[in-house]
Amino acid sequence: MTLPIICDTIPDIRKAVDTARRAGKRIGLVPTMGALHDGHARLIEAAHKDCEFVVVSIFVNPTQFGPKEDFHRYPRTLDEDRDLCARAGAAAIFAPDAAIMYPPGFRTFVEVQTWQDVLCGAARPGHFRGVCTVVLKLFHIARPEVAFFGQKDAQQALILSRMVRDLDVPVEVRTIPTVREPDGLALSSRNRYLDPEQRLHAAALWQTLQAARQLIEKGERDSALIERLMKERLAAVPGVRVDFASIVSRESLAPQARLQGPILIALAVFFGSTRLIDNLQMDVLE
Ligand code: AMP
Repeated sequence: MTLPIICDTIPDIRKAVDTARRAGKRIGLVPTMGALHDGHARLIEAAHKDCEFVVVSIFVNPTQFGPKEDFHRYPRTLDEDRDLCARAGAAAIFAPDAAIMYPPGFRTFVEVQTWQDVLCGAARPGHFRGVCTVVLKLFHIARPEVAFFGQKDAQQALILSRMVRDLDVPVEVRTIPTVREPDGLALSSRNRYLDPEQRLHAAALWQTLQAARQLIEKGERDSALIERLMKERLAAVPGVRVDFASIVSRESLAPQARLQGPILIALAVFFGSTRLIDNLQMDVLE
C-alpha cells in the first residue's frame, strides 16, 4: 500500500495533477473536511474505480461555518486520514492552510441564489456560499474530470450540480449513496461529538425518514401532514431539538403541497450543540 503524497500548496498539487494528466490518467476529486470515516472511504473508492489519479482534499473550510459553529473544535486527524486515503486508493491529498485558500485581500464568493437559503441554508446563513466558493476553487486547483459527493449532504450535491451547470464548469458532479451504521445513523465526522445516550437516540433520524417513506408508499401525498408527523416524532426523542423536517422537490428545492415527482425528504436536529442531518430521496409517481 503506497501512501498518497500530501500537498499543502497550490503549485504542488497542480504539479502532481499535471504529471498524472500527462501520463494519460483521468483525475477524480473527493472534497472533504477530514476526520475521514467509511462514508468518505466509499467516495474515494468510487473515484478510484473511475479515475486513475484520485485527489482527496482535506480542508476545514472557515467560510462555510457560522460564527457560533464548531470550526475550531472540528476534528483534525491528518495521520489517520492519510491511512484511510491509502487504503481507499487515493494518489494525493491536498491539505492547505486557510491562508493558502483565502490569502489577504480575498473577496470573491459564489452564490446559488435561493437554493442556498432553504433547508440547511436557512439555519446556516452563508454556509452554501462558503461551500460553493471553496469547491469551485478546488475545481480550478485540481482540474478534475469528475468530482464525488455524498448523498448524505443532498442539498449540497444539488447546489453544486446547479453551480457547475450555471457556470459551465467542465467537471462532472457524481453523487454516491449515504453510508450508514447498522442502526441506520448516517456516518458523519460530527457523530464523535455524541455522548453514548445521544448516540443511541440518534437512530431516530433514519427511523423518522423511514416512517415518512412508508406513509408515502401507502399513498399519503399531503406534504404538510407528513412534515408534522416527522417533527412530532423527532421532538419526542430525548435530548432532541428539531431544526427542520421538510419535503421539497429535488428539481426546484421548493415545497410541494401535494407530493409528486422527484422529492427530497430532509431533516436536521440538534443534540445539545451537535447538529445532525439526514435525508431520503423518493420518486412519487402519482
Ligand atoms: P465532509 O467531510 O463532511 O465535508 O464530507 C465530505 C464528503 O463526504 C461530502 O460529499 C459528504 O456528502 C460525503 N459524506 C459524508 N458522510 C457521508 C456518508 N455517511 N455517506 C456518504 N458520503 C458521505
